[in-house]
Amino acid sequence: MYKPHHAATDVATVKLLIDGEFVESKTSHWRDVVNPATQEVLARVPFATPDEIDAAVAAARRAFATWRKTPIGARARVFLKYQQLIRAHMGELAAILTAEQGKTLPDAEGDVFRGLEVVEHAAAIGNLQLGEIANNVAGGVDTYTLQQPLGVCAGITPFNFPAMIPLWMFPMAVATGNTFVLKPSEQDPMVTMRLVELALDAGIPKGVLNVVHGGEDVVNAICDHADIKAISFVGSTRVGTHVYRRASQAGKRVQCMMGAKNHAVVLPDANREQTLNAMVGAAFGAAGQRCMAASTAVLVGDAQSWIPQLVEKAKTLKVNAGTEPGTDVGPVISCAARERVESLIASGIEQGATLELDGRAPAVPGYERGNFVGPTIFSGVKPGMRIYDEEIFGPVLVILAADSLDAAIELVNANPNGNGTAIFTQSGAAARRFQEDIDVGQVGINVPIPVPVPMFSFTGSRASKLGDLGPYGKQAVAFYTQTKTVTARWFDDETRHLGVNTTISL
Ligand code: NAD
Repeated sequence: MYKPHHAATDVATVKLLIDGEFVESKTSHWRDVVNPATQEVLARVPFATPDEIDAAVAAARRAFATWRKTPIGARARVFLKYQQLIRAHMGELAAILTAEQGKTLPDAEGDVFRGLEVVEHAAAIGNLQLGEIANNVAGGVDTYTLQQPLGVCAGITPFNFPAMIPLWMFPMAVATGNTFVLKPSEQDPMVTMRLVELALDAGIPKGVLNVVHGGEDVVNAICDHADIKAISFVGSTRVGTHVYRRASQAGKRVQCMMGAKNHAVVLPDANREQTLNAMVGAAFGAAGQRCMAASTAVLVGDAQSWIPQLVEKAKTLKVNAGTEPGTDVGPVISCAARERVESLIASGIEQGATLELDGRAPAVPGYERGNFVGPTIFSGVKPGMRIYDEEIFGPVLVILAADSLDAAIELVNANPNGNGTAIFTQSGAAARRFQEDIDVGQVGINVPIPVPVPMFSFTGSRASKLGDLGPYGKQAVAFYTQTKTVTARWFDDETRHLGVNTTISL
């Protein structure tokens, strides 16, 4: 849990965006935005007041009256311009992101880039927001559908992808004709704000995109607000489940993408070198703080003998500040996150797992105050141990053993989470069985982090997702629009009358 407090006054403040103006919050409730590699306070972020939330929603509501009728080509052109601006500012955006979030600069560019792909997709809205028509459903009668925007939509985002995930949400919502209120993570809101500034530069009119900051109270106010029609949430299962229940109760459309425990299943016939490289990158990249991190390896049969080689590869990763060239593993987001990861590692030892590689308290010269945890590997892990049952969200890989592909599938399907998984094999038949029988949203076949590109939608299964429609792609168009079905008859012959029809036929 975050503990917001009154921060020092000599640092910059993060602004709210209300009705096209970046404004200073009147709140007395602030929190520091802290560089996780140095503990430098970069800015103070406000926890918006109820009046400020109301003002943001009211501005979005007013703007909707015009924006919903803005031609689809004009909406698309905003995103054509926006993608160009994001590209032109890539280096600056990555630098802000690394400073406040910690991930390496190349990975920060990846974070921005995966969001940029959604912006490019939003620019194609003219080909996406299409209805259907059936000609002559009865004599002289046609039926067609309109995909109309909902109104004010809201987005609540996590700390781990402060560029990509806001860009999963507002571009598709706004491109489809909605207006938006965004609530970024209070841990790293600065790159999100720079992206929002660029969106205004690209031509998003005032009131169409608004931003409020804060934590639990602000999120609850968004869930309850009568003028918000839909909520997109990405974050932990605990908070997402709360948001889903509370906002659904208030009559809203809600999509919640939540926590994970992603299993990489390795069959002994897999290409060993490729697989080990993929596993090390997917377990420890971004310090394990990805919802699609491959944090759990299931080694099937003889693949269990690969552990020493996996450990050797993990040892070669460089732990350092994200700004230092050649860094593989940056700091975790906060001191509290580091303490939590370290306590989970201690629990793994206590509960009898074998610590193959201990990454606690790595030496990082020049960044002694950073929240660093190095790559850590446990083998002999079993369900019931906290390191298996909980999402660690740090650079910790837990290894389980399975005798067969069937046993591996059973294990993965018994875990409550169903966000991502991958199989490593050279057998098409085994891969196809896995893809058929695994109850997980994103499935990689020799692809460790199978985050879909935006012509598809991100998804998730079981405890990893609530709501049936996912972010971006076709599902986002469905989520952010209401289908209106029109059945129309036009009379072109004044002399012909249908007479009174007391049946239900057309
Ligand atoms: P989080 O749930 O703590 O925070 C997410 C958002 O909810 C933030 O904006 C935060 O301000 C708000 N929030 C926090 N506590 C709240 C409370 N008690 N009541 C109401 N709102 C509250 O998540 P996080 O730590 O920022 O992000 C990491 C989590 O997000 C991990 O579980 C990760 O797996 C998940 N995640 C999932 C996906 C996905 O697509 N499935 C993608 C990225 C991250």
